[in-house]
Amino acid sequence: MTQLTTIDRTLVEQIVRQVVTGQTESAADPASPGELVVSISARHCHLSDEHVETLFGAGHRLTPMRELYQDGFYAAEETVMVVGPRRRMIEKVRVLGPTRPESQVELAFTDAISLGLQVPVRHSGDLAETPGCVLVGPAGVVELERGVIRAARHVHMCFAEAERLGVQNGDLINLRIESPFCTTLLEDLLVRADATSKLEVHIDTDEGNAVYLDGATKVELVHQEKQKKPCSCTGHGK
Ligand SMILES: [Zn+2]
Repeated sequence: MTQLTTIDRTLVEQIVRQVVTGQTESAADPASPGELVVSISARHCHLSDEHVETLFGAGHRLTPMRELYQDGFYAAEETVMVVGPRRRMIEKVRVLGPTRPESQVELAFTDAISLGLQVPVRHSGDLAETPGCVLVGPAGVVELERGVIRAARHVHMCFAEAERLGVQNGDLINLRIESPFCTTLLEDLLVRADATSKLEVHIDTDEGNAVYLDGATKVELVHQEKQKKPCSCTGHGK
């Protein structure tokens, strides 16, 4: 039991594992404006209100457990079991809130392989022709006909930040990560700009581990058309 508890805590921490540029002493330090936060999203799911009730009981509402970096979003106390073909399963997949119109499961490729699922790389909400799975909660079971994806790497920001960086919502930008013997350029991050989001990159556990994000000494967004010249947002001021 002790081991299971430890594993689950690790999973929770992975949901919000972050590297803030230039801050190696504590990833929990709040970033100042313009500072680049790179977060690893561990496997998780988003649920509709209807599915929350099916899985956790009539009238049930998600219980926020930990705030995420983006205002208004949280890791919930609730977890579900995700079951793939031939009854392969992953226990305790964290539910993120708030609820959404359509349920969605976001896995790293490593997770999908262990489940026996072939999942496409998709942007959140783009669920046409994606595989389904079965979700099991303490009060019931939901059979998702679609909605299992590997989330495509992306970067959130507000419109003002986008303007400062010279990009627009829907553009692609690259992320360069300097880490010991693992320095890597991740290309084609989708810019997701809106009125309120804070500057934050989302990559998954496979990507984060491959680039040794935990050991990163520098992270920076790099314009695609001029990769030699980092954009102004390097986390070292404006
Ligand atoms: Zn995101």
